[in-house]
Amino acid sequence: MIKNLSLFKRLKIALGLVITTALLVILTNAQSFAVFTNINLTKLPQYQADIQVGNREQGTGNSISQVPSESSQKTHPLPSTLARWQDETNSGDYFDEIKPTKYGYLIWSQFPVKVYLETPNINNSNQSQQWIQTVSQTVEEWNNYLPLEIVENPELADIEIIRKSPPLQFTPGKKLPRARSALTSYKVYKKDNSLDHRFTILLSPSQTGKYLLAASRHELGHALGIWGHSKNEGDALYFSQVRNPPLVSARDVNTLKKIYQQSTSLGWGNNNNLGM
Ligand SMILES: [Zn+2]
Repeated sequence: MIKNLSLFKRLKIALGLVITTALLVILTNAQSFAVFTNINLTKLPQYQADIQVGNREQGTGNSISQVPSESSQKTHPLPSTLARWQDETNSGDYFDEIKPTKYGYLIWSQFPVKVYLETPNINNSNQSQQWIQTVSQTVEEWNNYLPLEIVENPELADIEIIRKSPPLQFTPGKKLPRARSALTSYKVYKKDNSLDHRFTILLSPSQTGKYLLAASRHELGHALGIWGHSKNEGDALYFSQVRNPPLVSARDVNTLKKIYQQSTSLGWGNNNNLGM
C-alpha cells in the first residue's frame, strides 16, 4: 500500500514535468513567432535580389544557346516619348549603375510594348480588382515615357505581370532562405530571324496598398530596361523599399533615356551574325 502511494506520487511528479515542458515549448514558440512578426513589421524588404536572367530550362526550346557578337549590337531610334523628354531640373542619372547584359542593353524597339496582367487567383473579387487597378496605374505612369499597352491575350505580351510569390532565395553560407517581395526575369529567344526578349514580373501577394504600387512601379522599370538600381531614395528604382515610395523620378527617366541611346542585339537580326 505504501509502495503504491509513492508510485502514485512519482507519477504525479512525472506528469507535472511533462506539463511544464509542454508549456515551455509553447511559450518559446510563441516568442519566436513574435520576434519573426516584429522583424517583418519593422524592416522593409530590399529589392537587390529582384532581377535575374530567365531560367533557360523553362524555355520552350526556342531560347538561344549562342550569344551574338558584341560588334553586331546597334542602336535603335529613340522612341518619341523619350526624345521629347527634357529634364529641366538637371537631376542627373544613375546610368553608371546599369550594366549591359551579354545581349547588350535590354531595349524595346517595337512600340507600344505589350503588357499582360494575369487575373489574380483570389476569391475576393474586390481584392482582385484592387490588384489589377494598382498594377495598371503603374503601367499608365511609365506609359508617359515609353508607349505601353495592356493586352488581354498573354501570348501577345512582351511583359507578363503575375501575383505570385517569387521562389525563396538561398544564399551560400546562409542557413535561412530569403523571401523576396518581387522578381523580374527575362528570356531571350529568336523570333522571325530576329532576337527578341520577354519579361516576367512576379509580385508577391504579401505586397498590398502603397507597397504593391511601389513594387510594381519598380519592377516595371526593370522590364523597360533599367537593369540595375539607384542609390538615391527618391528614385523608383532605389534598391530598397521605403515607407513613402516615390513616383517615377526625373533621374529614373534620364537613366531610361540614356539606356535607349545604347546599342543592343535585341530587335535586330537578318544581317547580323547571330551564330544560330
Ligand atoms: Zn529591383
